[in-house]
Amino acid sequence: MKVGFIGLGAMGLPMAKRVAGAGHELTTTFHRNRAPADELAALGARILATPAEVARNSDTVITILPADAELKETVFGKHGLLEGFSQGKILIEMTTGTAFAVREVEAELAKAGVRVLDAPVSGGTPAAAGGTLTIMVGGDAALLEQVRPLLETMGKNILHVGAVGQGKVVKIVNQAMAAIHLLAMSEAFALGVKSGADPKVLYDVIKTSSGYSKMMDLRLPGFLFENSFNPGFRLDLMKKDLNLAVDSAQALGLPLAFASLAAQVFAAASTAGRGDDDFSAAGGFLAGLAGATLQHRQEENS
Ligand code: NAD
Repeated sequence: MKVGFIGLGAMGLPMAKRVAGAGHELTTTFHRNRAPADELAALGARILATPAEVARNSDTVITILPADAELKETVFGKHGLLEGFSQGKILIEMTTGTAFAVREVEAELAKAGVRVLDAPVSGGTPAAAGGTLTIMVGGDAALLEQVRPLLETMGKNILHVGAVGQGKVVKIVNQAMAAIHLLAMSEAFALGVKSGADPKVLYDVIKTSSGYSKMMDLRLPGFLFENSFNPGFRLDLMKKDLNLAVDSAQALGLPLAFASLAAQVFAAASTAGRGDDDFSAAGGFLAGLAGATLQHRQEENS
């Protein structure tokens, strides 16, 4: 297949490498930073000047961009995808954004005979590199079956969740839960640490107790225990996702107590200069407000 790939960030680059590795004819472009496009070119991809050219040279285009604004720029902007797309082409849109934006993209592209799948992902950079992402797909079920082999180069659990926009809805729900779990764990661990508990002991006990969440496995070892916050998933992107959840609730007139509070903690951590760190830095920031660190000091505990 002739595949275009736009958005070669922490997620997009390893995903695009898997698409290239499966033998698809790949084209890409770049925004500010050319280095990831060059890395992909070393695997045989062609670097083109604009999204429009990528659309012209592909049957299917995959986008995974930071958020709605970048998606709209890539589709509707000067030399955007819309300019290069024609009847029968497909857009697989994998950004974590709003249902509203992807529906708007779908409505406009439909006028040009282009079909759209809304397909955000979960699993983070290790799953992107290993091709084991969860992909939540909104859109025509028959179209999903048509592109499933392509999605299978990137993901293991590929689930149809409804119409275009529903992928974004499911993803935002997941993000609200992940952020709340991270902060719940960090706050409670800070209490434990300030009361004399070893964070590693807390982990060992709670991983088989009722307070467990997968966030403990994902963000204690390698991040909070080491006080090391290389992304991963940038804190400012999780802040964006929490704001998507809060905005969605507001639009529906619903309360969203804990996610709103989580959004405030993420905003504070971002203002404190942690926006480009991994999102688990918000947990470290919250623990810091209690004067605690969740860092596990080997020498003290061996
Ligand atoms: P990132 O910031 O690392 O990468 C975004 C990429 O988009 C960058 O390469 C940037 O140059 C490019 N870009 C920005 N504006 C552009 C434009 N106008 N045209 C072309 N390219 C443009 O982000 P990421 O971590 O790869 O995340 C991408 C999306 O996936 C986000 O919506 C994020 O919420 C979501 N996501 C991330 C993770 C994760 O663990 N990192 C996991 C699941 C989902």
